Amino acid sequence: MSRIHNFSAGPAALPEAVLRQAQEELLDWHGAGCGVMEMSHRGKEFTSVIEQAEADLRALLGIPEQYRVLFLQGGATQQFAQIPMNLLAGRSADYIVTGSWSEKAFKEAQRVAPGLAQGSCVRLAASTRESNYTRLPQAEEIKLDPFAAYLHVCTNETIHGVEIPAERIADTGVPLVADMSSHILSRPVNVEKFGLIYAGAQKNIGPSGLTLVIVHRDLLGMAPLTVPTLLDYAVQAENGSMLNTPPTFGIYMAGLVFKWLQAQGGLAGIEQVNSEKASALYNCIDSSQGFYVNPVDPDCRSRMNVPFVLANPELDASFLTEAKQAGLVGLKGHKSVGGMRASIYNAVPLESVRVLVDFMNDFARRNG
Ligand SMILES: *Cc1c(COP(=O)(O)O)cnc(C)c1O
Repeated sequence: MSRIHNFSAGPAALPEAVLRQAQEELLDWHGAGCGVMEMSHRGKEFTSVIEQAEADLRALLGIPEQYRVLFLQGGATQQFAQIPMNLLAGRSADYIVTGSWSEKAFKEAQRVAPGLAQGSCVRLAASTRESNYTRLPQAEEIKLDPFAAYLHVCTNETIHGVEIPAERIADTGVPLVADMSSHILSRPVNVEKFGLIYAGAQKNIGPSGLTLVIVHRDLLGMAPLTVPTLLDYAVQAENGSMLNTPPTFGIYMAGLVFKWLQAQGGLAGIEQVNSEKASALYNCIDSSQGFYVNPVDPDCRSRMNVPFVLANPELDASFLTEAKQAGLVGLKGHKSVGGMRASIYNAVPLESVRVLVDFMNDFARRNG
């Protein structure tokens, strides 16, 4: 068996050590005589799995006590609706749009707001659409409502490769809600700057089907009674994410990933490797004399998703074919931006990035 160098945007690579452990425990988890997929979510075995996963996540991210951790379903996309359902409560919310995902979040909030408590609405506080989502808005371009119920941002735009550096997350006086789907756990983050953090699991946490929500307890309990029970954060928090059957296998896998991250030196440790991977790839692109181009402002280039185009798009097909022959897979860019994209999440080893860079240098030499 030979494993590919996996640059898929999501579902994406998982750490090989985690997959091997899951394989070993698949038929018999810790002497239970069955695997995690086959046991009751209410039994003591699974209770220990979910409690350990939450404890390890809290330790990794330094999540303060006043935040609840929810293990939900429906993906980040469901959160686009669930956030306004829970937090708008007859008020207005601000959205900063910096790429496809925050644009989707904004549009979905616009869709659900009129059906919520009277007065619920959403506002566009800033958008970089006119710049093709290749930069962050300047402070003076952002028009904030000081009375907003919350301000929504996407801290890493997976398709456009735009990441908000930690130091640019400012306190605006209203709860900050962040879609961190594609870079959560890739670097330390000060959770206290946020009212709510959410992420679909399939980029940096585990298999698809699990959605993580970290929410300050002050934001619980505002959902109107018309919001379905399952979508009410307060009810989910009261029930330990077990109002109904949670995605048990996903939670188990996430727990293994959290342990793996601890063994990598926690988030500071993995951040170092992630920086090294991203530098190697951006250096390759920037030193290619225009053969490869990444259009994003250097001050907000993503360390997780690196989109790039070939100056000559006629070479795209042969780039992808030859890459695949070299074991480099998942490099085709999102259809909305074209070109290529290398997603270099936590589980993608430095070695895979080195192989990619060598391939890109060689391809440029042969075709330049
Ligand atoms: C992948 C992704 C989503 C969508 O996630 P689903 O789990 O498929 O709903 C939303 N936001 C960002 C930033 C993403 O990367």
